[in-house]
Amino acid sequence: MRVDFSVFRQSLLEWFKREKRSLPWRTHPSLYGTVVSEFMLQQTQVETVLPYYANWLVTFPDFESLAKAGEAEVVKNWEGLGYYTRARNLHKLAKSICESGTPKTFDEWLNRPGIGPYSAAAISSIAQNIPEPVIDGNVIRVLCRINNDNLPIRSSTDGRKRLLPLARDLIDPDHPGDFNEAIMELGATVCRKSRPSCLLCPVKDHCQASACGNESSIPVIVRRATTRTSSSRLWLVRDDQILLHIYPEDAPRLAGLAELPQINVPKGIAPILKRTRGISTELITESIFLLDLNHPESIRCQDLDDSKWVPIHSLSTISLSGPHRRWIEALLRENLDSNIKPPRD
Ligand code: SF4
Repeated sequence: MRVDFSVFRQSLLEWFKREKRSLPWRTHPSLYGTVVSEFMLQQTQVETVLPYYANWLVTFPDFESLAKAGEAEVVKNWEGLGYYTRARNLHKLAKSICESGTPKTFDEWLNRPGIGPYSAAAISSIAQNIPEPVIDGNVIRVLCRINNDNLPIRSSTDGRKRLLPLARDLIDPDHPGDFNEAIMELGATVCRKSRPSCLLCPVKDHCQASACGNESSIPVIVRRATTRTSSSRLWLVRDDQILLHIYPEDAPRLAGLAELPQINVPKGIAPILKRTRGISTELITESIFLLDLNHPESIRCQDLDDSKWVPIHSLSTISLSGPHRRWIEALLRENLDSNIKPPRD
């Protein structure tokens, strides 16, 4: 089966016009809105992004206001979205645009902070009508199925390299932004990972995997093995203050953020809270312990040097990593008070 590019584009674009989800960055389009939404949507679901996007545009309505903000304020407004490097890069990008102007080509976008091939293609096509195809996980899935391509894909870089020629052939040169949004939307809502809705698909007539009944087994993604780690955290509350570890400004991922301090715990002590969470391919089991630092077994606290007592009433003003805020709020509701002396300065 040979794909008729112009019929494929027309079918996809007509479907998108009819079925696209109403999203704020679509109903009130702007370069700034496109940039913010693309940063927020990396590794995050649309439903999670929506309230953050709305708040962000109230607090930082344009590149200028974002560029002028302090990093702590930027990170605070990102709190709960995770992957905080995105917030810092978005801040740097706003500064770069205010200082050096707006990039005008795909390659110029690629040279700016936090922008990789996917973001450069998405922003330049959607906001500037530049015909550069986007290739994310959704697009990789759609294109592999269109081509009945069952060769293993080992990474997004691998997938992008392989599928770029087909994506370049397919993209509508007159409506590249709509085309890119449409093919991502198709992957997100119709050509889903499991049980794709082929009967509702606007490009079914061009799809070789569907014609061969292979849609559920394609693409063949080689997953990285999941690693399991664990971490012990200290719960120390006294005199309406809580002990928190503040990551220093040069910390790679969590600079300026607060978390419950990590500790080594003697054997035989049960945690007061235990949660497992996933970050990328890592599964982390976090256990929180209520301990007395003056205990004879002397707990060795790894990072109390960077910890400080924070008044509980001011917790809302500091940047806490999302899961830690949830755990702290849950434990505070239980009114657990360590009632022991703070560590000496
Ligand atoms: S026909 Fe099915 S497998 Fe093919 S692109 Fe459409 S939804 Fe995906």
